[in-house]
Amino acid sequence: MQFSSYRDLREKLLAREMSCEAVVMAYLQRIEATRDRNIYISVFYDEALRQARSLDRKLDAGETPGKLFGMPMAIKDNISIEGTGLTCASKILSNYTAVYDATVIRRLKEEDAVFLGKVNMDEFAMGSSNENSSFGPVPNPYDSTKVPGGSSGGSAAAVAGDLALVALGSDTGGSVRQPAGFCNVVGLKPTYGRISRYGVVAFGSSFDQIGILSKNADDAAAVLGVIAGNDGSDATSSHNQVPDYGAEMEGVSLRGLKIGIPKEYFPESLNSDVASVIQERLDLLRSLGAEMIPITLPESDYAIAAYYILTTAEASSNLARFDGARYGYRSEKSSDLSDMYVNSRTEGFGEEVKRRIMLGTYVLSAGYYDTYYKKAQQVRRVFLNRYREALANVDVIAGPTSPFPPFGIGDKMDDPLEMYLADVFTVPASIAGIPALSVPVGFDSSGLPVGMQLIGNFFEEGKLLGTARAVQNAGKV
Ligand code: GLN
Repeated sequence: MQFSSYRDLREKLLAREMSCEAVVMAYLQRIEATRDRNIYISVFYDEALRQARSLDRKLDAGETPGKLFGMPMAIKDNISIEGTGLTCASKILSNYTAVYDATVIRRLKEEDAVFLGKVNMDEFAMGSSNENSSFGPVPNPYDSTKVPGGSSGGSAAAVAGDLALVALGSDTGGSVRQPAGFCNVVGLKPTYGRISRYGVVAFGSSFDQIGILSKNADDAAAVLGVIAGNDGSDATSSHNQVPDYGAEMEGVSLRGLKIGIPKEYFPESLNSDVASVIQERLDLLRSLGAEMIPITLPESDYAIAAYYILTTAEASSNLARFDGARYGYRSEKSSDLSDMYVNSRTEGFGEEVKRRIMLGTYVLSAGYYDTYYKKAQQVRRVFLNRYREALANVDVIAGPTSPFPPFGIGDKMDDPLEMYLADVFTVPASIAGIPALSVPVGFDSSGLPVGMQLIGNFFEEGKLLGTARAVQNAGKV
């Protein structure tokens, strides 16, 4: 029982061709049969079936089905669902149970989505390969010796493997787009503030955004329409009206669409397979009427440095709350309070998280603040202006999502700087706060997926998703 889109599933459910219970059961059985892939951290066997049965009764009673009626979803394990584990794939939260629903979860429940479980990720969403997880790595669905990308590696692998129809992830610098690209699915990071962050464990608060991973742009639009919008519990959530994304998508046509092609997104060092798959699809889009406009984003080389200064600074502050005192793991070894803090954090956090806390503390320290943190903030403003200028002349910006195809498990673990380069094309949109997505466009010579990134202007998710649909469909003819 597999579905190419939510529309397909919804039609069958509403026509009573199959029950929610049967659909959810089929997903749970596939999840059970693939536990060795390490995708799910926890599976809600009983609760998902209970939810499904109550949805079936709802139809029996003639009640109106919600907008996401029966949609089987996987949720990244840094998003709060009341009464269930919330680990962030970290030892420090291994015994923690969430005490409230994230706003997105509440909204999804109201529209009758079904939660299958929580999925694997890099610890506290720090990483590009899902290897920084206390639960261990996740194999790429196309080659089990390769990584699925990160940090939302479990979310991407779940959708790619039909272990959920749609998944939520979080994207601070590429964590939805990059794994989507590596697993051949669509991954959308909306405009900063489009979706409430209430109930998402903070990493870099001025960057974090919940994102959606799905098989196609229409499913992402359906979910975005439900979870977007202002929330009194998140002061950074936007008051902008949530548009009808389906209608906005209809308004997009490749004919005359202006696609900006930044030369910095096609450097000499770009993997040649990635370069040719992207180029081929761009040529196809041109033959279908799109206009390619060469642009330049000259500060691109500074993106990684600015991103890692700003996000580690924010992370060092956000992660101060995990001290063994209030919740989470507490070291047994301690003799006094300060010892307890130190031991709990030393034992509870993984390598990468500790590296970032140290980096962040350093760039914020007196004497270095102006040199690093303040400078990076200034660079952030330059990026914002530069992308605004570029997007005033084009509809979307296109390029590869990742500079290379999925890499081998273990290949980059000894070299954090090498790992950070995986984000070179995804962090700029996060720095600027603008929406971006990854859409599948083909495979490299060893059959590994290649994603194309599309970047849009503030709150133009509809246009981006409409373009993504056209880009994906162009490959099907
Ligand atoms: N890979 C990037 C990092 O490690 C992005 C992470 C994310 O978007 N959460 O910071």
